[in-house]
Amino acid sequence: MSPHLEQPRKRRGLLLLISSPSGAGKTSLSRRLVTDHADLALSISATTRPPRPGEEHAREYFFVSDQEFDWMVENGELLEWANVHQYRYGTPRAPVMAALDAGKDVLFDIDWQGASQIAQRAPQDSVRVFVLPPSMTELSRRLNARAQDTMSVIETRLTNAYGEIAQWKLYDYVLVNVDYDHAYADLAHIYHAERLKKERQAWVAPFIEALLAEKV
Ligand code: 5GP
Repeated sequence: MSPHLEQPRKRRGLLLLISSPSGAGKTSLSRRLVTDHADLALSISATTRPPRPGEEHAREYFFVSDQEFDWMVENGELLEWANVHQYRYGTPRAPVMAALDAGKDVLFDIDWQGASQIAQRAPQDSVRVFVLPPSMTELSRRLNARAQDTMSVIETRLTNAYGEIAQWKLYDYVLVNVDYDHAYADLAHIYHAERLKKERQAWVAPFIEALLAEKV
């Protein structure tokens, strides 16, 4: 126990931006990290892409029409948005702000364009992680194995993967998802270490002031 520490310790929330080519495993890694951490909220994006079998409105995405997406853009409802694989995807602003106000961190499963836009606006608060497949052959195998998309969609995603991977230098961390559990452990370590940075620990300065004022 310390007489100088308030509970809970005040922190500044971080924005964890995770990107990867489709099929590299970012979505399962992201969802598991959110499930394992009560104070990490997942940003649910809006998209004009139609739902895949099994996807639910407001769980995987807010599935919206082109008109609804236009409205969100025009009304400043999105923190960022981008064209990805022929559809539009964007991050609704209000839930992110609400989560940060509530002292939570926020995880974004978004492409490199969105990650860049958010990191430009909030450089101190952003942590960017890029997830890579072990090989392009394995990426193709994973995309085909999940059997969620048509052949032409898979081909577009595979072709686009080359351009996405070329953006790796924008990221703070690069993970190669050879083994899912190993990649998850690395992601969790990154998240835990980033949370501990002194810039994100609002309690540190007053604590040190109190330590230095304490006479023994
Ligand atoms: P999918 O259609 O496979 O769910 O997602 C396609 C791509 O769009 C993925 O790379 C995903 O990370 C990205 N994406 C999802 N939501 C957003 C978003 O809100 N903004 C941006 N810029 N990209 C997103």
